Amino acid sequence: MTPPDVLSIPTPPGPHPAQTNCVVLRDGAAVDLVDPGWDDPAALSALDAGLAELGLRLEDVRSIVATHWHVDHLSLAARIRERSGARILLGRPDAGEAGIPIDGLLDDGQELRLGGRTARVVATPGHTPGSICLDLGDVLLTGDTVLPAINPGLGLSVEVAGNPIRDYLASLDRIAREFAGRPALPGHGLAIDDLPTRCAELAAHHRARTAQVAAALAERPDATAEEIAPLLGWTGGWASLTDVTRMSALRQTAWHLELVGA
Ligand SMILES: [Zn+2]
Repeated sequence: MTPPDVLSIPTPPGPHPAQTNCVVLRDGAAVDLVDPGWDDPAALSALDAGLAELGLRLEDVRSIVATHWHVDHLSLAARIRERSGARILLGRPDAGEAGIPIDGLLDDGQELRLGGRTARVVATPGHTPGSICLDLGDVLLTGDTVLPAINPGLGLSVEVAGNPIRDYLASLDRIAREFAGRPALPGHGLAIDDLPTRCAELAAHHRARTAQVAAALAERPDATAEEIAPLLGWTGGWASLTDVTRMSALRQTAWHLELVGA
């Protein structure tokens, strides 16, 4: 199997990764894309130019799968559909947050024909409730569930049921077990050669934070999430968090409290 082509699609400036990996899968003249990128003129030109270099056109795109609903992965899909009539597919639990009409919803274990291969949907909730990985046989596309250089934020949806940290740890466990020895292509950054090691590192980050919450609670058993959150080791420090990131940190603290059993 020829490895899939990957186009690096720029994102507008901001506190998010500077590029998105758009995976291009060809089937004769037809093209299937995974995670096209951000709906932005520079992203559209980069995609257009990247496809042209591969001898392909936007008009040839037949289907688009997004690994989750975030704008840096999905939003450009609507623009491509206008040009090619492509079908847009997304993990079922993310449907309500998509912001654009979705043509098909994906469930765990579902098989898709992508670029002449059979791809299998692996539901990996945590980053968002509907986050998926795609098993292409020779490579696993991990979206933002497993990233090489940063810890993906968790529960980054408006509507979140259950406990995203618990879900995420279970997703990491599953990926490490089922895809050990398989290379991975993440939604941002470079390929990952050793999935079990990276999954263990990401899990350790959250387990350490749960332990911090447990320790804070042992000293002050009545403390609330608001009181505990500033005591935890946030990247850049609590004072550096803005309204949105502070809100996310508070939600995460509450989920850790739940795991501690408070
Ligand atoms: Zn992303």
